[in-house]
Amino acid sequence: MELDLGPEVAQFRAEIRDWIGGHAPAGLADLTDWNNVVTTGGYGSEQRAAAMRHPSYAEWEHELSDARLICPQWPAEFGGNGLDAVRVSVFNEELYRAGVPRVVRGMGESLVGPSVIVHGTPEQQAYFLPRIISGEDVYCQGFSEPGTGSDLAGLQTKGEVDGDEVVITGQKLWTSGAARANKMFVLCRTDPAAEKHAGISYVLIDFTDPRVSYRPVRQLTGAAEFCEDFLDGVRAPLFNVIGGLGNGWRVAMTTLGYERGGSASVQHLAYEREFWALTETARKRGVAADARIRQQLAWAYTQVEIMRFAGLRALAGLAQGRRPGPEASINKLFWSEYHKRLGEIAMSIEGSDALIRPPGDGYPTTGWQNAFLASRAGSIYSGTNEIQRNIIAERALGLPKEPRVPA
Ligand SMILES: Cc1cc2nc3c(=O)[nH]c(=O)nc-3n(C[C@H](O)[C@H](O)[C@H](O)COP(=O)(O)OP(=O)(O)OC[C@H]3O[C@@H](n4cnc5c(N)ncnc54)[C@H](O)[C@@H]3O)c2cc1C
Repeated sequence: MELDLGPEVAQFRAEIRDWIGGHAPAGLADLTDWNNVVTTGGYGSEQRAAAMRHPSYAEWEHELSDARLICPQWPAEFGGNGLDAVRVSVFNEELYRAGVPRVVRGMGESLVGPSVIVHGTPEQQAYFLPRIISGEDVYCQGFSEPGTGSDLAGLQTKGEVDGDEVVITGQKLWTSGAARANKMFVLCRTDPAAEKHAGISYVLIDFTDPRVSYRPVRQLTGAAEFCEDFLDGVRAPLFNVIGGLGNGWRVAMTTLGYERGGSASVQHLAYEREFWALTETARKRGVAADARIRQQLAWAYTQVEIMRFAGLRALAGLAQGRRPGPEASINKLFWSEYHKRLGEIAMSIEGSDALIRPPGDGYPTTGWQNAFLASRAGSIYSGTNEIQRNIIAERALGLPKEPRVPA
């Protein structure tokens, strides 16, 4: 099924396809499989990192930047292209079709930028947004703490206002991409006397400050893609507080809305590729005729198709001007549960070989071992699936709120 998005979108698709064809550097698509399912955990990340160091990637970055396509969804006044959600999806689809990447350096493009656009002052927008587009500022997310993940509003990191600065002290945990970042967006408690959600501020800090230290946390896959971070009196000007002191919760909710929404209309494409790769593995291992395996693969295919139709439905809604609602939670729940199950199916196809790691230094894993192990994280990050179920129950279905334990 193809969705008819009208002649204007069809024309945009033709134009952007031509543009990609004319501007993507020759050989860029061959550097790596840019369309691979990305699992947090690092498999293939060295190959991806090497491809990103290739001169063709820098050239592509330059082309996208000149065409205002690094952050295409941002309004033109902030350096974006002002593309609506439908056109951004079409752009992503066409990049996918051409096998070339979208340039994403950190969490600035998708999370910090939109939050600064919604809640920042004109001066903050003028200062912070161009630095995200140019790649000068690469952000990581400092929300979770050792005792605070789902209950984010219970965070303990202190932010003390000292003159025209805020001084931040505390510990953050599970910070993805911290080692690549030079900035962090931090939630800290600037008013301990205020009600839990009210005393929080959203501050952009210099992550290269000597009062910041961090160390990697090793994951189930053997990779160490995230870190624990220690902020020991890090100073940031009050100018770096987005949304004003004590308003951090509202800003954080904007950020999380973008984090959970993802690119619902194109994500099935990567899962579809992965599905066919697994089917090929089943053939090579001689189990493709096994009725049990066939049933599992058939199930996986139906899930990928459901993701495709859900994506089309989301796109159709956007084309009609409807704002995304609880779809973000439904989408996050669906893909993460699917991927965990797919990892298990991959393990049953690999059979007893799945139990043995390939030889080599460090902690090497095969692609399917990695998919199995890394997929377990999908139902934890961006808000656990239990939390997503609560959101769907309470905000979409209108069920009674879960009972709260008194503090
Ligand atoms: C791969 C990965 C990358 C991450 N990257 C980042 C990052 O870059 N920056 C960042 O700030 N954080 C990051 N996180 C942290 C992530 O946001 C938290 O792990 C997550 O919010 C859960 O918090 P927690 O680990 O403290 O678990 P807890 O909140 O302690 O939850 C423990 C269990 O209790 C359940 N639970 C908790 N509350 C409820 C409730 N009200 N109802 C029902 N069940 C409940 C949870 O679902 C979970 O199963 C990352 C995590 C992972 C796994």
